[in-house]
Amino acid sequence: MLICLDYDETYTVDPEFWDLVIELALARGHRVICATMRHEHEAEEMPKTIGKRVEAIIYTGRKAKFDFVQKAGYYPSIWIDDMPHFLFQGG
Ligand SMILES: [Mg+2]
Repeated sequence: MLICLDYDETYTVDPEFWDLVIELALARGHRVICATMRHEHEAEEMPKTIGKRVEAIIYTGRKAKFDFVQKAGYYPSIWIDDMPHFLFQGG
């Protein structure tokens, strides 16, 4: 599986929990990326936190995530997001 994890109000709610989830996913041979609607310049802390665990961080800059992530070359089969409507709707 390629799992796409949201950052704000998903990973940030309990980073230790998600770090374990990511570790387990990787140990099982799955891949994990992060997609956020932040712009990169709004996300200075992300490479130092979730960015150390996941394969890539995709910054959509308020654009809907689903198409944006695919255009970046990733095709997640699982999305984990507290606001899933933003997969298809810009913010
Ligand atoms: Mg969120």
